Amino acid sequence: MTTWTPRKSPLAFSEEVAYLREVFSFDGGETAVEEAPYSLCGERIAMKKQWRGHCPEASSSPGSPGGLIEHIEPGKLAARLGLRPGDRLIAINDHPLRDVIDFRFYGSEEEMELLIEREGRRFTLKAQREYGEEWGVEFAEPVFDGIRWCNNRCEFCFVNQMPPGMRKSLYVKDDDYRYSFLFGNFITLTNLTEEDWERLAEQRLSPLYVSVHSTDLNLRRELLGNPDAPDVLEQIRRLGELGIEVHTQIVLIPGRNDGPHLKRTIEDLSALYPTVQSIAVVPVGVTRFQRHGIRPYSPSEAKEVVAQVIAYQAHFRKFYEIGLVYLSDEWYFMCDLPLPAAEEYDGFPQLENGVGLARAFLEDWESEKAGLRPTTLEATVVCGTMPYPLIRQVMEEFSAVTGAEVEVVAVENRFFGPMVTVSGLLTGQDVVEALRGKIATETLVLPRAMFDAEGKLTLDDMTVEDIEKALGVEVRVAATPGQCRQPVDGFASISVVHHAGRHPHP
Ligand code: SF4
Repeated sequence: MTTWTPRKSPLAFSEEVAYLREVFSFDGGETAVEEAPYSLCGERIAMKKQWRGHCPEASSSPGSPGGLIEHIEPGKLAARLGLRPGDRLIAINDHPLRDVIDFRFYGSEEEMELLIEREGRRFTLKAQREYGEEWGVEFAEPVFDGIRWCNNRCEFCFVNQMPPGMRKSLYVKDDDYRYSFLFGNFITLTNLTEEDWERLAEQRLSPLYVSVHSTDLNLRRELLGNPDAPDVLEQIRRLGELGIEVHTQIVLIPGRNDGPHLKRTIEDLSALYPTVQSIAVVPVGVTRFQRHGIRPYSPSEAKEVVAQVIAYQAHFRKFYEIGLVYLSDEWYFMCDLPLPAAEEYDGFPQLENGVGLARAFLEDWESEKAGLRPTTLEATVVCGTMPYPLIRQVMEEFSAVTGAEVEVVAVENRFFGPMVTVSGLLTGQDVVEALRGKIATETLVLPRAMFDAEGKLTLDDMTVEDIEKALGVEVRVAATPGQCRQPVDGFASISVVHHAGRHPHP
């Protein structure tokens, strides 16, 4: 369930939005990058965030029915006004509320007239708000008028590759700039209306996360399967004129948009710095359900990409003092190359897109291990085939530090196919079949990224209890090595890297 409460101190709108992101991203105390959002798109499946277990179909009504209030905090403005859970806040000062961004924007006035709907009846309420006074209201969803659907037909779309029978939210193709603003979902900008542009100008929703793939208009249209897709460079320039910054990604497909195309795209985007704040290069994800002949990169091809991008990085660092273009972690695993140092990620602008997550995981581990106490834990730790060397290295250190006896097992993804090597796309059934009768420990540790937003269900709807019953062992779910020591609560930060990133749009 997604909820939001304004924070205590008066903040600038941009700060409030950063807070909004924080709240929605980490709702329930879970790591944002681990949840499945409303959609998984392209090859970059998003088990991640925004995710929070919400199904957008529930709110896809035409127009805006207002925000459904879920919780009122006692003693705060909403309580003082007599608002109740179940009420819908339709408009503030005649501005219909389309989402929590509008609420925040228009609800920051000192004198307001609220249009409320309660049990089918509408009424208005005068409200006076002290500067910085908290509303103390939580909404059921961040978007009130329904999510914006994608109008593209990418050949590499992960949603289209999804076999039937999976979790419902995995079939949703969203392309909503508000989710991009709030949660960092990648969008294509192909469905923006003039009204949207006006809103972007008025509310200056920055930064946005844009899937570019190619700056060659015809090639991009081909890749998106959308002959009407506008020129993305013009759109980014226009965003820049509005004071909106963008983080971009290029999903690279062998033989399609790499080589000279990649060169052109990187150069075109870099010319738009500082509007373009970062460029992530990520490899296309391919499952066994792919029907368009797209194949994954071979290690030698991946090395060429890495060399090409690293050269640009060094060049940009001289001129912009940041690398600007970054490779997602998969490239380093594919090429068996050492991960870059943390400083080379310039603050990790696309961490949740799998860019630097492995390095961040190692950094976190360095901090975590100092506080670990000895343990008698004996456990088998599961991960995907790609992160296996890294997880094994960290778990060996974990054992050395704590005295735990840990075996790390890489499980092959039979469901999506062996080309899918990330931990976050492992199904419960694959884990059970791979480990049945082979576990020598009493405890099995599964990656948090295998589970949904609530941490309860795998992609094929198995629970922790189902897996325990099938394997006859205690199952724990962990996001860090330290969490292996606790009962189920929540090794998966790293697996996010390997589930191909957080954003729904490639
Ligand atoms: S833009 Fe994203 S959701 Fe839409 S078709 Fe392409 S990959 Fe799929």
